[in-house]
Amino acid sequence: MVLLTEESPLTKLLKKADAAAMAKNKGVETIGDLLEFVPRKYLPPNELTDLSRLRVGENVLIVAEVAAATTRPMRNRRGQLLNVVLADSAGHQLEVTFFNAYGHERKLRPGVRGFFIGQIGSYGRRLQLTHPDYELIDEQDTAGEIEYYRTHWVPVYSTTGKLNAFRMRKLVHQALDTVDRVREPVPDEVRERRSLLGRAEALELVHRPPLTKRPDAGVRRLKYDEAFVLQTILAQRRKASEALVGTPRRPRPDGLLAAFDDRLPFELTDGQRAIGEVLLEELGRERPMHRLLQGEVGSGKTVVALRAMLAAVDSGGQAALLAPTEVLAAQHHRSISALLGDLAVRGMLGGRDIGTRLALLTGSQSAGARRAALLDAASGEAGIVIGTHALIQKHVQFADLALVVVDEQHRFGVEQRDALREKGVAPPHVLVMTATPIPRTVAMTVFGDMETSTLRELPRGRSPIATHVVKADRPAWMQRTWQRVAEEVAKGHQAYVVCPRIGEPDPGSILSSDTSEEDASDWEPVNWSEADWSEADWGDDGEGQPAQPPSELTGVYTMWHELTTKPELEGVRIGVLHGRLDPETKEATMRAFGAGDIDVLVATTVIEVGVDVPNASVMVVVDADRFGISQLHQLRGRVGRGSVPGLCLLLTKDPGERAAERLDMVASTTDGFELARADLQFRREGDVLGARQSGRGSSIRHLRLTRAEDEEIIAEAREDAFELVEADPDLRVHPALAAAVATRLDEDQAVWLERG
Ligand code: ADP
Ligand code: MG
Repeated sequence: MVLLTEESPLTKLLKKADAAAMAKNKGVETIGDLLEFVPRKYLPPNELTDLSRLRVGENVLIVAEVAAATTRPMRNRRGQLLNVVLADSAGHQLEVTFFNAYGHERKLRPGVRGFFIGQIGSYGRRLQLTHPDYELIDEQDTAGEIEYYRTHWVPVYSTTGKLNAFRMRKLVHQALDTVDRVREPVPDEVRERRSLLGRAEALELVHRPPLTKRPDAGVRRLKYDEAFVLQTILAQRRKASEALVGTPRRPRPDGLLAAFDDRLPFELTDGQRAIGEVLLEELGRERPMHRLLQGEVGSGKTVVALRAMLAAVDSGGQAALLAPTEVLAAQHHRSISALLGDLAVRGMLGGRDIGTRLALLTGSQSAGARRAALLDAASGEAGIVIGTHALIQKHVQFADLALVVVDEQHRFGVEQRDALREKGVAPPHVLVMTATPIPRTVAMTVFGDMETSTLRELPRGRSPIATHVVKADRPAWMQRTWQRVAEEVAKGHQAYVVCPRIGEPDPGSILSSDTSEEDASDWEPVNWSEADWSEADWGDDGEGQPAQPPSELTGVYTMWHELTTKPELEGVRIGVLHGRLDPETKEATMRAFGAGDIDVLVATTVIEVGVDVPNASVMVVVDADRFGISQLHQLRGRVGRGSVPGLCLLLTKDPGERAAERLDMVASTTDGFELARADLQFRREGDVLGARQSGRGSSIRHLRLTRAEDEEIIAEAREDAFELVEADPDLRVHPALAAAVATRLDEDQAVWLERG
């Protein structure tokens, strides 16, 4: 027999087509991947199945005999139905059905015995199995099988293509028996300290657990491995950034920061003040700051960041503020201009000498505006440069970039952060802001190379937001909804109506073209990365509902058209905003809404992040079931920002059970941390790590970031890895760990390249 290593390709054990299916559907490419392919569940052995004791929903391995098998055409559809009756030794029976499954009738003849794996369902009042995986006992080799099933838990793998549960198990066992030596990335002393099994032993236990033991200890070890390798990478990143030598940036005693603090129209909250101190202290050090600032929507992160930026400018450097969308970049530009007032127009009429200038750089601004902004950035005239991804491009230069602030981190990858960092003469300080509260597991994994600060309180005077789920198929409820909007407008307030898609601008053509092919590209691009978080896993396990085609969702234009003809909203000024408008229109619309010249803004999720109009008091979210928990929470943070109480109405037609649960969750609490935790549970693990890590193959395989017990594993692995890297930064005495780290980084890199 050929000896295999963990690096051997799966084709060593499988036909090309089957190996390709495993790679594509399960991310299993090598023998090592296969060994890490943990069973979905374990079944107790079921030697002499008593068919009279089965229950609906139960997952079973059954040993039984085929008593009868009949094939007949299906009644309502084309094709054949194979009906098999199984019997146990006492004569109890169970029905098994196969639809259009040609070939099975030749194997499942009366009299043969077999193993059947499946979930018990029911048809009418009778129990039945549909399309079970099975293996006949009179096939070769089954003496060993019977013995195996008598003495072991039965691992059940998630299967793909032609690989049924039985073949999968044999395949993995074959890998276990042929792999020459299993790699061991965790050093002995760590294993001892944490009472971990050896990796080879763990794999054996996971895939071939004897009845006398439980597989959990094996799984725990694999989780630890995964956490340990990840944390080693983070520890190395941290170490590398600690070794960087930057420039200390200290504000002048009577400089820009002091002048700004003097003119601030409100008092900083205690949190803002305390974190401000930390930032100033870190900016004053040689080692570049690398900090994550998290805080609820509306907690006032911008002012905190702005004060740090002003300190950087005071010291003679520049600050860059990177925003995820043009709307947000423009808004930052506007609101920071307003906060700075005459401090932001140095060299211009009314500008103060102590002040600085702002530049705005976005992808689609006019050539002239762009040139001016580039020049201001390169010459150093602009102390603060605000922009979108455009800031990252090669030709953007700074005279002396001191501080990089990244707003709403989850939309940017590590690479983009790094690209901006490289624009400094010396490595600049970095501050990353996020409004999505981050559970500890994620903080330790995804942001594990950064220090963290959290703004816990909202500024005083914030009003509570009430949230209600509204059944959109009840005309009376809908009428009430628009009445509420009209009432708010009558009081002088404003409203958002958020739709999941853009739709067709010309209302006359809505009916004819709304379902056209091109509409697939009609999704709000900004919406995507985030909305996917919770939507990607719909239908994944058969419990969620299938994703609706985009054409069934309400578009901004359809909504706009509908609202403009509503009697309730007569005389109300209604505007439209979405990501595909040209930048001037976007900017003008936001400005008009900000100034109160538009009463109701019908928009996509472009307004999700950071948009700040304190006078807006109502938000109506259309097809709310299409949005994720965190996204809805972010969205409603747009209202109730002033002294007016906020109201958020979540419209949904037929949400399905899981979506209904999400909506109720959002309506039931405004605690961002609680929602973030709940949200995690609706997502796939990989998605938690953001686009970069969510690709197959490199996604988190074993850890469940939503589980408390894994939090402890991650914390332990983090401690161990950081200690190890402290003593041996280049992993010289830990070659096996170094290899595991290299493999992991390669996988991430591959996924990253694939996605462009
Ligand atoms: P976020 O953390 O969501 O980015 P912002 O920084 O946009 O929040 O702040 C929301 C609003 O609260 C802004 O209008 C800002 O000027 C205001 N704000 C910030 N800090 C305070 C404070 N201490 N007191 C009153 N208002 C504040
Ligand atoms: Mg913000």
